[in-house]
Amino acid sequence: MTDVATIFRDHYGAEPEGLWAAPGRVNLIGEHTDYNDGFVLPFALPERVIAAAGRADAGWAVCSDLQGEPVSFDDPGEPGTVTGWAAYVAGVVWALRDAGYEPPPARIALTSDVPLGAGVSSSAALESAVLTALIDLGGLDIPAHERPALAQRGENVYVGAPTGIMDQSASIRCEAGRALFLDCRSQEVEQIPFDVAAEGLAVLVVNSNAPHRHVDGEYGARRKSCEEAARLLGVPALRDVSTDGLDQTLKQLDDEVMRRRVRHVVTEDQRVLDTVALLRSGRIREIGPLMTASHASMREDFEITVAEVDVAVEAALMAGAYGARMTGGGFGGCILALIDADRADATASAIAEAYAKHGFTAPTPFVAVPSKGATRL
Ligand code: ADP
Ligand code: MG
Repeated sequence: MTDVATIFRDHYGAEPEGLWAAPGRVNLIGEHTDYNDGFVLPFALPERVIAAAGRADAGWAVCSDLQGEPVSFDDPGEPGTVTGWAAYVAGVVWALRDAGYEPPPARIALTSDVPLGAGVSSSAALESAVLTALIDLGGLDIPAHERPALAQRGENVYVGAPTGIMDQSASIRCEAGRALFLDCRSQEVEQIPFDVAAEGLAVLVVNSNAPHRHVDGEYGARRKSCEEAARLLGVPALRDVSTDGLDQTLKQLDDEVMRRRVRHVVTEDQRVLDTVALLRSGRIREIGPLMTASHASMREDFEITVAEVDVAVEAALMAGAYGARMTGGGFGGCILALIDADRADATASAIAEAYAKHGFTAPTPFVAVPSKGATRL
């Protein structure tokens, strides 16, 4: 990767005023719970977007080592005015302004080692790096807890991607050696100890490299089904459905598919709470069965897994993982497995072998170290 300050100098013929970084993330547990006002538990990756930035006289210019031509715009305009990858940048500028702030005109150069579209949220990393840079450059007084919603609004409204609050919260608020317990309703967070290395453990993340299959449509359908179920059950969101007497509650729903969707969300919220309780008392290994149960729930009840991720999870468990599950919205993306630290290569090989047997495109493994969120370097 070319040094980002050098890219800045080459493009803009000036020195950047500073460097800001924001990471990608993986979600340890809590899938499709965010838009149901529930709980998630992501942690930040060492992989991150780095932004070199400096104030300009007018407008915004941005270039990225992952994209061809630099893009500049005088004004973000209405949502949808700037398109393509730079929309994520324009969205941040737009969201700041829409919230009544005055983001400074700026020039920005970006580098990134967060894989795009792999389910580790390169988009939130990009937004969070740009947001943090603009806030610092403009001396804007915006506390950390208000920042994720700004980046999210940029992505939801300006880019037009309907995502929850998890990704930006993780990229902005995570701390090293911790997972971020996020209540998506109150947006309150708690830093949960998750120093896997200190316990002789590792989290192996494997990009399934499964081809994308109608992800957006399926996501929308799941969301709709959950909202409809909450309405039928007379609760504000599925987060308000208790696991106590769940079978009884589900009888109120006629539709068998909807019953399973609800069961996933309600039990998944509980698995997040159980995982947090175990981690608070330092019992990291014991979260394995909860991870595996989460996967089964996504496969059977929420029906968002595909053959590639099922095979990867199965192979990881056969290779001795304490637990394994798909992470992210589904229909591909990554799996994660909790393993003994010295089993990373063996587990990755086992998954690669299983893939070869099925004739799937080879998976991409990496070890995920819980890292810190957005920061000025
Ligand atoms: P994910 O967030 O899961 O990686 P998304 O589809 O939400 O996938 O976001 C990926 C998009 O974000 C890319 O197609 C690109 O437009 C933009 N993006 C992310 N990181 C960068 C980057 N470093 N430089 C330019 N564009 C980026
Ligand atoms: Mg994204």
